[in-house]
Amino acid sequence: MSAPVLVINSGSSSIKYQLVDGDTLEASTSGVIERIGQSESILTHRHAGEKHERRERFADHAAGLEAMVAAFQEHGTPLAGSGLIAVAHRVVHGGERFVQPVVIDDEVEQAVERLSALAPLHNPANLEGIRVARKLFPRLPQVAVFDTAFHATVPERAHLYAVPAAWREEHGVRRYGFHGTSHAYVSRKAAELLGKSPKAVNVIVAHLGNGASVTAVERGRSIDTSMGLTPLEGLVMGTRSGDIDPAIVFHMHRQTGASFEDLDAALNKDSGMLALTGEIDMRAVERAAEGGDRAAQVALEIYCYRIRKYIGSYIAALGGADAIAFTAGIGENSAEVRAGALGSLVALGVQLDEAANAAGGPIISTPDSPITVMVVPTNEEGEIARQTANLLQS
Ligand code: ADP
Repeated sequence: MSAPVLVINSGSSSIKYQLVDGDTLEASTSGVIERIGQSESILTHRHAGEKHERRERFADHAAGLEAMVAAFQEHGTPLAGSGLIAVAHRVVHGGERFVQPVVIDDEVEQAVERLSALAPLHNPANLEGIRVARKLFPRLPQVAVFDTAFHATVPERAHLYAVPAAWREEHGVRRYGFHGTSHAYVSRKAAELLGKSPKAVNVIVAHLGNGASVTAVERGRSIDTSMGLTPLEGLVMGTRSGDIDPAIVFHMHRQTGASFEDLDAALNKDSGMLALTGEIDMRAVERAAEGGDRAAQVALEIYCYRIRKYIGSYIAALGGADAIAFTAGIGENSAEVRAGALGSLVALGVQLDEAANAAGGPIISTPDSPITVMVVPTNEEGEIARQTANLLQS
């Protein structure tokens, strides 16, 4: 490895990690620590095709990361001898300030903490990983890479909401967008598949995982994206509603007396495919639909229809697209969702090749389709490592 970077994605009760080369984007080791703070935690460490599991209680993120260091020591290359150039942290919300990766110091840490107001579910957990890693690796540069940063180029017409000035000016209310590292990576790969420079093509990226968003990328720059102030806006997701009439919140508050915390949780955790079908996992929804479950069939239609509306509107926003790229768990694996999402877009220049779609691509449109449709596996950790290496080598 010429530029090994330890990439850390710290959640509230889990930490994912990967040792990635920032030049080649190859990952030599990866792992996840789950159920931190519960009676039994699990560390799963993968190296050289082997999986090692350790089950015991990790009381907090510090104990989890210490177990990660021990796992590196035991299996493969100890971190101390791996020539690490940095520890890179995925941070969900960078607000208006962080539009590039940044080396973390105390002041950056405090700024990320202040941004927790905009991402209360994510930034505090990211911050915990940063604090623990700074103590654990005091001599290494620690870099924050923000999910929002790629969308800093979204123009006012797409990022401003028509809401009172004080909301916008004093409370940071605007569209920020998320999944930025994935949209950046996949749009670049899409250009590569077309044999062109990213600056020469317009690409629409549909990142369909548990969280899901669509981005319009014009000549390498994000110009619109479906998530907004928070990751709640846009597509129907595993447990999130995506777009709704905001007045539904006031209506339900008046009707039931539910608090705003309850309503926030209802829309973020109890909505989406879960609310429509009882299932979060798209494979289970697809199986139920195939088995004749009417609710699952309708939910799939709703899911695909929402994606189709965004793709159609982004073809308009871009004034024409060269490619549509599907990525993440559902986008990479569900031929049914891809076909459902593109169904009636023939008139807009999308001609799906059914056999290629069923086979999983990479190119899944016909050779004469004006817009090339593709499946591009995302690599968020690789992109974080690449951006980190670029920052430190510049
Ligand atoms: P996250 O947003 O948590 O990173 P992923 O990108 O891993 O999520 O995507 C998770 C989603 O991908 C789940 O809803 C899962 O059901 C779905 N998925 C994974 N494999 C398949 C498959 N073969 N067919 C349909 N959906 C799949």
